[in-house]
Amino acid sequence: MRKTYHTTNEQETKRLAAALSRLLLPGSTILLEGQLGAGKTTFTKGLAEELGIERAIKSPTYTLIREYTEGRLPLYHMDLYRLEETGADEMGLEEYFEGEGVSVVEWGSLVEEEMPDEYLKITFAVTDEAGMERDIQLEAVGKRYEEIVAKLSEDWEM
Ligand code: ADP
Ligand code: MG
Repeated sequence: MRKTYHTTNEQETKRLAAALSRLLLPGSTILLEGQLGAGKTTFTKGLAEELGIERAIKSPTYTLIREYTEGRLPLYHMDLYRLEETGADEMGLEEYFEGEGVSVVEWGSLVEEEMPDEYLKITFAVTDEAGMERDIQLEAVGKRYEEIVAKLSEDWEM
């Protein structure tokens, strides 16, 4: 199942992320795709705020992984853009994916073979010249995420 949302500013993207956040269960994995500046980290911020994480979310571009454990669920925020320099082997990605938290992976397609069988893939595209509008496509990979994508569209339209 796929569903595309259109947002016209950063706040709207964060509200969509917050609505998704309410539906997430322990051990959720979300893969974020889209060019630099597309809104992946902005989306993660909206998600984190709704989980109750008050610490500012910084893009883990240099550290690759940041863990936030103070919210309703732990958040593992990964940005694999610079992965080549480090290699994925010693990162223990599977332990995060199998853990009790929510794993959010920017540039996760770089390690597509290491992704779990089921995950939610979210693709961001800038759709206007001013750089304010986004198409945000949610695609469920696996049954568990079909339900989440369906529920989000109900919640969003209310
Ligand atoms: P990425 O993590 O994909 O590289 P960021 O989230 O760091 O992207 O940056 C997105 C930038 O685009 C931010 O500066 C944000 O304020 C801006 N922006 C403008 N409009 C939107 C929108 N509709 N949704 C998300 N971000 C937006
Ligand atoms: Mg980012």
